[in-house]
Amino acid sequence: MYISKAFIPILKNNPSEAKIKSHQLMLRVGMIKQSSAGIYSWLPMGFKIMKKIEKIVREEQNKIGAQEILMPTIQSSEIWKESGRYEDYGEEMLRIKDRQNREMLYGPTNEELVTDIFRSSVKSYKSLPQLLYHIQWKFRDEIRPRFGIMRCREFYMKDAYSFDITDEEALFSYNKFFLAYLKTFKRLDLTAIPMAADTGPIGGNLSHEFIILAETGESKIYTDKRIFDLDSEGTKLDKKSLEELRKKYEKFYSVTDEKFNKNEFEKKVSETNRLKTKGIEVGHIFYFGDKYSKPMGASVDLPEGKKDFVKMGSYGIGVSRLVGAIIEAKYDDKNEVMKWPISVAPYDLSIIPMINKNDTSVLKKANQINLELEKNGIETIIDDTEENLSSKIKKMNLIGVPYQIIIGKQTDGDLLEFKEIGKEAKKINLSEIIKIIKEQKTKN
Ligand code: ATP
Ligand code: MG
Repeated sequence: MYISKAFIPILKNNPSEAKIKSHQLMLRVGMIKQSSAGIYSWLPMGFKIMKKIEKIVREEQNKIGAQEILMPTIQSSEIWKESGRYEDYGEEMLRIKDRQNREMLYGPTNEELVTDIFRSSVKSYKSLPQLLYHIQWKFRDEIRPRFGIMRCREFYMKDAYSFDITDEEALFSYNKFFLAYLKTFKRLDLTAIPMAADTGPIGGNLSHEFIILAETGESKIYTDKRIFDLDSEGTKLDKKSLEELRKKYEKFYSVTDEKFNKNEFEKKVSETNRLKTKGIEVGHIFYFGDKYSKPMGASVDLPEGKKDFVKMGSYGIGVSRLVGAIIEAKYDDKNEVMKWPISVAPYDLSIIPMINKNDTSVLKKANQINLELEKNGIETIIDDTEENLSSKIKKMNLIGVPYQIIIGKQTDGDLLEFKEIGKEAKKINLSEIIKIIKEQKTKN
């Protein structure tokens, strides 16, 4: 793709309305455009990145055996009246009337709708567990939308739902998502730490928020630094391994503001390991038993012939928020250098030829190189403008394509100037460059 034809409307300066770096960068390079308060259009670069994130989220859901469905954005109020949440949800719910005067709403979440789908088709314990998910737009009429797509009103979310008959089986499902989340965020090159939420008065109820560290995050967190050394590497999908994985994380104190208890923190975490900072919630998993299945009558036949309400959990990932979260984690705003993880980068590599009006040879060379890269599945963007090198580099630093090839008139033979953003350039040949990038891509 030539940059002159790409729809990347770059601004010279940071837009003054943006208070945090993800919002600044997203406006600066034209990833999004606000259409009204808390509602955004996604332009090609932003959309491309979000789609790549979505793909990784989807792959990790599929790996634990979750099945993808697609529920509508518009829901009927009926099911929400059954669960009792129609009144409870309050002003965050966007309520709509259709031409027949029926009460509809734009879904803020889908527990009711998925329970309705489940109860109408699944009748026996033999069909369990069921893990269903979809990736769909949500609307919440947030009182204070801000920080661009980080806290907006319309956002893109992966939400999954599990159905089981016993607490033990339900916990197994919960733990599968726990693992899937750790793997998803790792592939996005993010360190997201699971923070235990309250276990409620009856016990049994479980909840974890997945938080990445960022000064601009809205969640205050208190944690034991040693939790950052943990990994899910090699964890198998059986009950025992998954339970051990979760216990391994739960050994370390890590909570958000709501659950913070100073005495407990100081008792459980030595002074050197204490970390008090801020973070961004990118995912949230929850086990809530029969909270929805009971009022909505979602039950199945049990082996002994009796019937029981299914035990459910729900599991959300903020797919659109993740675009911003990655920027918060990776953008060096002092030097104005962004580096997208290769797993979600809008392009793998940028080709920066130094072009002179009367000489097409350098652009020709860029095109040849591009052809070879494309043959090898490497996605590129070529800066075909006649700007000078330093402004080209500046622009590419903002776009954040992780690798660059710079071609000058003196570039001769096989050796090319190759650079990983933020690192020193080196001279190597094209086949080596291809090898490096391919390796990085397959790691993910
Ligand atoms: P928050 O505490 O940030 O308001 P929440 O607890 O209301 O989030 P959930 O219902 O758990 O959110 O939704 C699942 C995920 O969806 C969150 O972890 C977050 O990543 C994302 N999300 C929630 N609200 C928004 C929003 N207004 N804008 C963008 N993403 C959101
Ligand atoms: Mg939450």
